[in-house]
Amino acid sequence: MYTMVEYVHERMKTYPKHDIGVDFTMGQGNDTLALSKICKEVYSFDIQEEALKATREKVSDDHVHLILDGHEHCDRYIQEFDIGIFNLGYLPAHDHLITTHQETTMIALEKVVKMMRQVLFVVCYIGHEEGTREAQSVADYCAQLDRHCYNVALFKMLNKPLAPYVIEIEKR
Ligand code: SAM
Repeated sequence: MYTMVEYVHERMKTYPKHDIGVDFTMGQGNDTLALSKICKEVYSFDIQEEALKATREKVSDDHVHLILDGHEHCDRYIQEFDIGIFNLGYLPAHDHLITTHQETTMIALEKVVKMMRQVLFVVCYIGHEEGTREAQSVADYCAQLDRHCYNVALFKMLNKPLAPYVIEIEKR
């Protein structure tokens, strides 16, 4: 079976529009790299200089724009996108205190849902305290999205309760 991240990368390819891709949590650049292979333009955000450095080593194409800023400010850089991903949490081999936070994630998510033209994936991690709080807010918000405008699905391991899971939001 695919890992959650492999699953997202495969799901991305099934959508027809590939003009603008956005990685809202750049990290080590794996999602940015996956987007760069299928999208004409890619915007990628992180608050850590290390993330930009690691990602630059994986992908240096002109159509990929690495932005040192929080995703809660994404509306300063983009107005619309086709494929987006939030891979929440922290960089595994770095400072675990530099993680995504419920408050800023929710500010970003509410903006991003209005900007999406096609699909957004949110990978949630509930193995740490902030992640559990954040994942609950994300799930509550996604569950109340208007079903006439969005389809919202969950991909989750039923026999591994603490494993990460994916929320997929499709614009109808
Ligand atoms: N997508 C990454 C990859 O492919 O390696 C993994 C992302 S990692 C789990 C989460 C990242 O979110 C960290 O690099 C962290 O610095 C970043 N982050 C935390 N708060 C952020 C914010 N407000 N805006 C953008 N990125 C943030």
